[in-house]
Amino acid sequence: MKLYSTNNKNLSVTFKEAVFTSFPSDKGLYMPLKIPKLSENFIQNITQYSFDEIALEIAHAFIGEDIPYNDLEKIIKDAINFDAPLVSLDENLAVLELFHGPSLAFKDFGARFMSRVMAYLSDNKDKTLDILVATSGDTGGAVALGFLGVPGIRVTILYPKGKVSEIQKLQLTTNGQNIRALEVNGTFDDCQSLVKMAFNDPELNAKLRLTSANSINISRLLPQTFYYLYAYAQALKINKKNIVFVVPSGNFGNIGAGLLTYKAGLPVKHFVAATNVNDTVPVYLQKGIYEPKPSVQTLSNAMDVGNPSNWVRISDLFNENLDALRNLISAYSFTDSETIQSINELYKNYNYIACPHTAVAYLAAKKYNHPEDFTIFLSTAHPCKFIDVYPDNFKNKITIPDQVQQLENKKSSATSLENNFSNLKAFLISE
Ligand SMILES: *Cc1c(COP(=O)(O)O)cnc(C)c1O
Repeated sequence: MKLYSTNNKNLSVTFKEAVFTSFPSDKGLYMPLKIPKLSENFIQNITQYSFDEIALEIAHAFIGEDIPYNDLEKIIKDAINFDAPLVSLDENLAVLELFHGPSLAFKDFGARFMSRVMAYLSDNKDKTLDILVATSGDTGGAVALGFLGVPGIRVTILYPKGKVSEIQKLQLTTNGQNIRALEVNGTFDDCQSLVKMAFNDPELNAKLRLTSANSINISRLLPQTFYYLYAYAQALKINKKNIVFVVPSGNFGNIGAGLLTYKAGLPVKHFVAATNVNDTVPVYLQKGIYEPKPSVQTLSNAMDVGNPSNWVRISDLFNENLDALRNLISAYSFTDSETIQSINELYKNYNYIACPHTAVAYLAAKKYNHPEDFTIFLSTAHPCKFIDVYPDNFKNKITIPDQVQQLENKKSSATSLENNFSNLKAFLISE
C-alpha cells in the first residue's frame, strides 16, 4: 500500500511510514494512492462471510503485501474479538451497535487494530515505542485498552482533570502494566498542545521513540471500514437493500471510513452526518463555505469538534467537488435539548437506551426521512459511559457491562500534572 498527502499528490510513502508518522510533514493527511475495488463476487456473496473474513477481505485489499495475508488474518482475529450487531428497531430502521469492545466505544476498532499493526511493523524491537495521546475521554480508553500488554510499547495518556466521566476515568487509570495516566490540571486543548510540544521537542525525540495514536492515523481508519461491510451483510440477511448510513460525527473519521468503503464498492444509497451544535460540516454542505470555529461543549462531548480533522480526507475523496459531496452526503446538527428528547423518544418508541451521540444520529435519521430506504444509524458508545446525562429514572435502567464492573475493584492511579511542558518533559525522561 502506498499513500500520498492531501497537500501533495506526488508524495508516495509506504504503509509503515504512514503508520509511524501519522501525518506527513506538510501537515496534510495520508490517503491511499489506489482505492481497491472489492470484487462483485465478494459483494454478492457477502452474507456467507463471517465478520473476520469480511474484515480480512477489505484490509488485505488496501494493505496488500505490506502485511502478508496470514499475518493480517492473525492481527484481525486478535484485534476484532467482539461483535458489531445490527439491531432492528422498526421495519426500515436499525441501529448498528459498535460499543461491544473493551472500552465500550467504536474507537476500540481503530485502537486495537492500530496497536497490533504497530507492534507487528515495529522493527526497532529493542527500543520501546512511546505512544503519547491526549484524550477528552473516549480515545484514551480505547487506546489504553487497545495497547494494554502489547509488547515493546508504552502508552502515556493525558486527560483533563474533572472533565472525563467516572467510567472513562476508570478505563484510563486502572490499567497498570504498560499504560500510564497523566491527569492534567487544564482542558483537553491543553492536553493536546502538551502532546504537540512533546512531538516537536528535539531532546525528547532524541531520547525516546515517540509516536502518536492520533485518530488521523491510517491504521485507525482502515478497521472502521470493516463494520460498514458487515452491517451491509447483516442487512442483506434480512432482505434489506437501499441502505442509508447515519453517522454521529465529530472528527469525521467514522463517516470517512464509510465513504472509503463506498468508494471501494460497498453499495450505499446515501450517508447522513449527524453533529451536535458543532456544525462546521453541516454549514459547509449548506452554504459552501468551510469555516472552522472553536468547539462548543455539549452532552455528546466526543463530537465537540469545531475543525474536524478528517474532513480534508473526505473532501479529497471527492476531489473537492461540492456537488458530488452534496449528492451523497447530507448533514444535520442538533442541540442538547433535542438530544435529550431523542433519548426519551428512543426509549418510549423502541425501549432502546442510546448514548447521547447515538441519540443525535437518530435525530438525523428522522430528519433525512426516507422511510422507503433501510436506515442504519451507528451507535458509537454504550450509554453507561455518559451516565450523568440521563435523568434519574433512566439511570437504573442502564445495565453496566461486566468489564466496567470489574474496573471498580481495581486500583486507580494517575500522576497529577500541572499544565506546563517542562513538567511533562521531566516526567517522560525520568521514568
Ligand atoms: C469519537 C466519537 C465520535 C466521533 O467520531 P469521529 O470519527 O470523530 O467523527 C462519536 N461518538 C463517540 C461515542 C465517540 O467516542
